[in-house]
Amino acid sequence: MRFSQFGKKFTSRSGILQLMDDLGSALATDGNVIMLGGGNPSHIPQAEALFRERMGRILDSVDDFERLVGNYGPPQGDQEFAAALAGLLHKEYGWNVEAKNIALTNGSQTAFFCLFNMLAGTFDDGSHKKILLPLAPEYIGYLDVGLVDDFFIASKPEFEYLDDHLFKYHINFDAVSVTDEIGAICVSRPTNPTGNVLTDGEIEKLRSLAHHHDIPFIIDNAYGMPFPNIIFTEAKPVWDENIILCMSLSKLGLPGTRTGIIIANEQITTAISGMNAVMSLAPVSFGASLALDLVQSGEIIDLSRDVIKPYYQSKAELAINYVRQEMAGLEFYIHKPEGAFFLWLWFKGMPITSQALYERLKQRGVVVVPGQYFFPGLQEEWQHKYECIRMSYAQDEAIVKAGIEIIADEVRMVYSN
Ligand code: PLP
Repeated sequence: MRFSQFGKKFTSRSGILQLMDDLGSALATDGNVIMLGGGNPSHIPQAEALFRERMGRILDSVDDFERLVGNYGPPQGDQEFAAALAGLLHKEYGWNVEAKNIALTNGSQTAFFCLFNMLAGTFDDGSHKKILLPLAPEYIGYLDVGLVDDFFIASKPEFEYLDDHLFKYHINFDAVSVTDEIGAICVSRPTNPTGNVLTDGEIEKLRSLAHHHDIPFIIDNAYGMPFPNIIFTEAKPVWDENIILCMSLSKLGLPGTRTGIIIANEQITTAISGMNAVMSLAPVSFGASLALDLVQSGEIIDLSRDVIKPYYQSKAELAINYVRQEMAGLEFYIHKPEGAFFLWLWFKGMPITSQALYERLKQRGVVVVPGQYFFPGLQEEWQHKYECIRMSYAQDEAIVKAGIEIIADEVRMVYSN
């Protein structure tokens, strides 16, 4: 069978599909694999108890369950949830958000597919526009979503060296240029893979750049505020009519419900609603129903601030301590973990590529993600891409510790040979 270009795009053995298959088969071949590669959130008992309790109430009610499974929702997503969330955002941050500014998608990954292809690609006048990612490394999930080639443009960061093997990337604004070929600017904040949280100053500069050039500014808030609030530094959440804020219920502990949330001006939410209708009639309403009470009561904010954030923050500290302890004497740097749940490890001057290190670690039963996948749109070659790996610390402490021991041992061998 021959596939169209569209079909080939999703079946070619390159990029993220290859990597995801590889991660999946590493898991399937051996139950003892130490999986530090995926983006799955932790199972946090306190959060799970709340979801279970809400599910129980849905099941016990006279017709909540029947309505949940027996009806198509509207293409923009559950309106009761949207109204509750708009109210919450207005109360918390004073944003002028109404239900019409909110559209749900089947996970925020789907939101990026829709938004990016809506705002970049080929336009009626024959022009071609790209998505600007002002700070590489960026989220691996963006890598293959463009339906046309040459879809992203990214810039190398500046480095700030901190104490105790830590460093932090900053946007190099001298390298960021918004030309006519840019259709939108996008950042993840906190950033996957690095755990970076762009400063309020950086966000403000990007916001005014986007405004000045009359293009949208997309902020991927999958780990951000007000939920799941996996942010360990001070950061001010922002929204205005030119910002497309993408949120998700996944990192709260509900990735299986596939609930993405777009907060944007009405032109965008209406367009997303149209795309939902064509692609899936309506987005899944399960996550919205499960989280409805938590949003209506504001409890989702307490859960995020008092349970989820401290949970990951203490895991980050433990993971960093293990890395420092196990890798003592090696040339390593850790991106300062300011949010999300990954450590971005940089082995400066490593004699092999991070892909080769990934293969060697896989042989030893530890799965991480090699760094070069996290640079969508960076045109120039850059050694740094091949010196970094991403490891998740969302797993149980003993697993993370065992993984770090093996990584340290392997890296030590790599340098000594
Ligand atoms: N954005 C970032 C930065 C992520 O890390 C992820 C998942 O790992 C997503 C978006 C997509 O999340 P979901 O489609 O589960 O909402």
